[in-house]
Amino acid sequence: MIKTETSAISQRLNATIRDVPDFPKAGILFKDITPVFLDWQLCDDITTEIISKLKEKPDAVCVVESRGFFIGMLLANKMRIPLIPVRKKGKLPAETIAYTYDLEYGSATLELHKNVIKKDWNVLIHDDVLATGGTAVAAAELVKAEGGRIAGFAFIVELGFLDGINKISAYTPEIVSIISY
Ligand code: AMP
Repeated sequence: MIKTETSAISQRLNATIRDVPDFPKAGILFKDITPVFLDWQLCDDITTEIISKLKEKPDAVCVVESRGFFIGMLLANKMRIPLIPVRKKGKLPAETIAYTYDLEYGSATLELHKNVIKKDWNVLIHDDVLATGGTAVAAAELVKAEGGRIAGFAFIVELGFLDGINKISAYTPEIVSIISY
């Protein structure tokens, strides 16, 4: 993964993230980030670390439901830029655009409110975990459909063996994660 190194913060994260085997189904090793939220200093340090790795300040940060919301809000607040949620189908109340993508079994649809992103805004996309990359691609396609540009992707965790980076590097070389497994 680009821009991931073994640092003090990645070691702290590694010690805090909880591995939950066979969740939500058999064979998945779930990286549970909820213990991270118990440590406000670690949350603050994650936010600072991600921002320090960005080449340029984005115009907005687009965050993916639901685990992207937590550090996403801190990122937006610290950079003093707008936060734009991408949510699962049927959750956003006003007019939306939708993007449907394939999962291992079936499909998923994500939505974005229309007319929030200003034309040519450079938008950072944030989620907690990059796995296969399907979710990040969906968020990127929604941002582009609304006239935004992809400034970069920022994750707390990358599951390198799933090669999600291969799917998202077509959008931008600016891909940041703090810890890679
Ligand atoms: P993907 O679309 O495959 O990149 O999956 C990314 C989304 O699924 C993120 O929103 C993650 O929160 C979640 N996710 C996928 N795999 C895992 C995992 N092993 N541990 C924790 N979250 C995961």
